[in-house]
Amino acid sequence: MSGGPTTHIVGAGLAGLAAAVRLALQGRRVVLYEAAPQAGGRCRSYEDKQLGVTLDNGNHLLLSGNREALAYLAATGAADSLVGPAETRFPFLDLASGERWTVEPSAGRLPWWLLSGERRIPGSSLGDWLETRHLALAGPQTTVAQAIRRRGALWRRFWQPLTVAALNTQPEEGSARLLWEVLRRSFLRGAAACRPLIARDSLAASFVEPALATVRRLGAEVRFGWRLRAIERGETRVGALLFDEVRLDLDPTDRVVLAVTPWVAGELLPELGLAFEPRPIVNAHIVLPAATRLPAELPLLGLIGGTAEWLFARGRVVSLTVSAAEALADTPNEALSERLWADTARALNLPPEPRPPLRILREKRATFAATPAAAARRPGAATGWANLALAGDYTATDLPSTIEGAIQSGHSAAAVVGR
Ligand SMILES: Cc1cc2nc3c(=O)[nH]c(=O)nc-3n(C[C@H](O)[C@H](O)[C@H](O)COP(=O)(O)OP(=O)(O)OC[C@H]3O[C@@H](n4cnc5c(N)ncnc54)[C@H](O)[C@@H]3O)c2cc1C
Repeated sequence: MSGGPTTHIVGAGLAGLAAAVRLALQGRRVVLYEAAPQAGGRCRSYEDKQLGVTLDNGNHLLLSGNREALAYLAATGAADSLVGPAETRFPFLDLASGERWTVEPSAGRLPWWLLSGERRIPGSSLGDWLETRHLALAGPQTTVAQAIRRRGALWRRFWQPLTVAALNTQPEEGSARLLWEVLRRSFLRGAAACRPLIARDSLAASFVEPALATVRRLGAEVRFGWRLRAIERGETRVGALLFDEVRLDLDPTDRVVLAVTPWVAGELLPELGLAFEPRPIVNAHIVLPAATRLPAELPLLGLIGGTAEWLFARGRVVSLTVSAAEALADTPNEALSERLWADTARALNLPPEPRPPLRILREKRATFAATPAAAARRPGAATGWANLALAGDYTATDLPSTIEGAIQSGHSAAAVVGR
């Protein structure tokens, strides 16, 4: 690392880590500050001593078209730490009717699979799919439910679950434009861009530990337990960072990347007017007596008509995701565990009794609500202070709150401070 100016990166979630990796690889001096005792932010893992397994805070699904995320993994030597099916396939089960089907997009950009009766979602017609054009043409204020008015099987079995999974926001308030951008970068580029991928061992093993090892190897310093309390700012520049016990006066050549959550960034820089509503995600991790395999050897299964929308399998651990889980805020863990285990037992043809050990994890601030109003007020990476850039999934990435968006934002902030 050169002896040149230092870039102080505050927040070691994926946005901060991506900025740190990019800048450290360019030979820049980097110091990374994180309030928590570990890195990863909303994408982290921990040892669950009671269950005796490593758990992720939540299931994270990526797609093979997530170019920024894959570039980040390649830069940290973790490119082969994601797993997924060799071909693009999304299996589904309707828990109410017992019907099963698999969404298999075609190889090219043209969606030929929609013409195939066998590959189409049961109960949907080609005419239903024509609704997609309204999404493409939607204005900035339009919600998904306003863009796609048709109801029926395609709504219940595709648009509704897709919106909730991609935006973590119900279609009645989710931005049509944000959903369209997700589709444009994945499904509309053909099967090769939407192969589902998950971390083989853990989120930490894919996204956090290799990045920390990379920046440390390149000479960066990583400081845990450093919570930024205030940013001293003048007209055109940031002058000092005030941590709990340390005041850090910046050298005129130093740069700062603020890579904290939108809620903390809003408190530190009130003049930016950052007002993002949070949306929760609930995950359940169930430890089965033996390793399980999902139908067709796929690592995930979409569930329609149950409490959770996705079921993932990794060895003995089966994990369920309930996105946009506002309705479960007051549901006690015991009642929720019963419901989620009942769905799992049905989906995997397991005996309903006895219920295996299960952990419920609630992330109240998993993502920002991907509404048209939020999409309109996202700040760019550059700020009015020449030495301060913003990174984070909430910045103007054109994507909802995702790993891809967070990493893209880190790369954008690195480009701004690296100028
Ligand atoms: C349960 C769950 C499931 C998800 N599922 C998916 C999925 O399937 N696919 C997908 O792509 N995305 C998913 N996401 C979203 C994804 O995890 C986030 O968009 C991404 O991790 C956000 O990264 P970030 O760096 O922008 O923010 P964060 O991860 O929030 O990082 C901010 C960091 O700043 C630190 N910090 C905060 N305040 C301070 C301070 N004052 N001083 C110093 N440090 C501070 C925090 O501790 C944190 O480490 C999911 C999120 C959750 C919670």
